[in-house]
Amino acid sequence: MSARDIIVIYEKLSDADKALIEKAFVVAEKAHATHTRYSGEPYMNHLAAVGTKLAEMGMSARTVAAGLLHDTVEDTDITPEYLLEEFGEEILFLVEGVTKLSSVRYYGSDRHNESLRKLLIATSQDIRVLIIKLADRLHNMQTLQYVPAEKQLRIARETLEIYVPVAHRLGMGRIRKELEDLAFPYVYPEEAERVQKVLKTKAGKATELLERERKILQKRLAEIGLLDFKTSYRVKGVYSLFHKLKRKEWDISAVYDLMAMRVVVPTVEDCYRTLGIIHKLWRPLPGRVKDYIAFPKPNGYQSLHTTVATPNGIILEIQIRTERMHHESEFGVASHISYKEQTQTGKTSDGKSLFGSLIPSLFRPFSRPKSTGNEIKRTKDSAHSEKIPRWIAQIGQIHSKGKSTTAEFVEDAQTDFFSKRIFVFTPAGDVVDLPVGATPVDFAYAIHSEVGDHIFGAKVNKKLVQLDTELKNGDIIEIETRKSSQPTAKWLSFVKTSVARRKIKASLEENGTSS
Ligand code: MN
Repeated sequence: MSARDIIVIYEKLSDADKALIEKAFVVAEKAHATHTRYSGEPYMNHLAAVGTKLAEMGMSARTVAAGLLHDTVEDTDITPEYLLEEFGEEILFLVEGVTKLSSVRYYGSDRHNESLRKLLIATSQDIRVLIIKLADRLHNMQTLQYVPAEKQLRIARETLEIYVPVAHRLGMGRIRKELEDLAFPYVYPEEAERVQKVLKTKAGKATELLERERKILQKRLAEIGLLDFKTSYRVKGVYSLFHKLKRKEWDISAVYDLMAMRVVVPTVEDCYRTLGIIHKLWRPLPGRVKDYIAFPKPNGYQSLHTTVATPNGIILEIQIRTERMHHESEFGVASHISYKEQTQTGKTSDGKSLFGSLIPSLFRPFSRPKSTGNEIKRTKDSAHSEKIPRWIAQIGQIHSKGKSTTAEFVEDAQTDFFSKRIFVFTPAGDVVDLPVGATPVDFAYAIHSEVGDHIFGAKVNKKLVQLDTELKNGDIIEIETRKSSQPTAKWLSFVKTSVARRKIKASLEENGTSS
């Protein structure tokens, strides 16, 4: 694997972008030279795989470079200062964002999970951080068999509970399917085996049968003068099949979308025309026609669906969509970001504003590094904004209708609760939520009163800080305690939580230093 292998994925790339990918590749390779994966492979294989996935999604060279470098700050001698110097602020921002996310950990309770998903989105600040993280997770799942057994279950669970829903809400269908099918056998081994067994009875010859029907349809479409189309097929993913089988009492003949064929045509008109042709060719099943073009799914998905019975006795779901709808259903928000990235001009220095430009008020409630006054210059282009689907454009708007949409999901991240609370981490990755303005003292008391009562010093993101330092979303806090240390009255002037206030007062009275 070399930088070349990534560069060739692009149809065209400027010389500067090629050089950037090459440089990031070389730096990462050198920095991780002595590291290996659990499989024994060079660590660089992981980074190259992440970079490749990002390139395949159409992300920019800068995002790919950040993908290649995503583990450097955490695992190597490379410093943030070095990245800033060599790669600029934007790439540093992305790498540090991914590094921060590595402390988001799954702890098992459902209530906690929803917060974690929101937290993941909220602390990412820039959606590209999340996209890099998803690519990272995908490759880690693809190589999970090499990871020590005791870690596999936690990672797979975390994938199903946290990353899969996030990918789904972001409309990233391809990565979602891959993640869930990879995680499924680890989390539900018996069920996965059962699904495989059921699947074998039915889908053993699936691709063969699908291929035959596909040829028939291809021929028909060509006869009718629709020449510019693509067809493909897919067998339903095992995890989503599992959920459907549960609903159908494990009767696979009641699962009509086990096999699906996709027809990708140039225009929306062609979609409806193709539907007509298909219904003339094969008998549609009643009540199975779904017009997700006129009525997109909550996560933005668009297609026409119909289920037909062919004379060969096959029941087949057919999905008809345009190229753009297809790309969006595969890559979701990434397809919009990549588009946006390509329209940016000039050197970027403030990575966040890229997302900000797409989704104006999304993360405003959260702390953001100060502007360098050197933001990307953006040209307003109405043709482009029309391409941004409504569901993305709506993100950040206030009204919601009770249904769970991507917009509302992300929007939730800035509802009262989330705008008045911050989430910080223990060094072990536990999440602690605190009110905005909270300090290390509030944090310490939130952990345990014994910790609060004996604070000696505090580190935020590994740097020593004053005890009245205001904490920010995503900070990692470390409290050093000494038996001899005691609260002082001064603490009362800056703590934000009532717990801390109460405990400090109690301790002051006990030690007779309150007056
Ligand atoms: Mn990684």
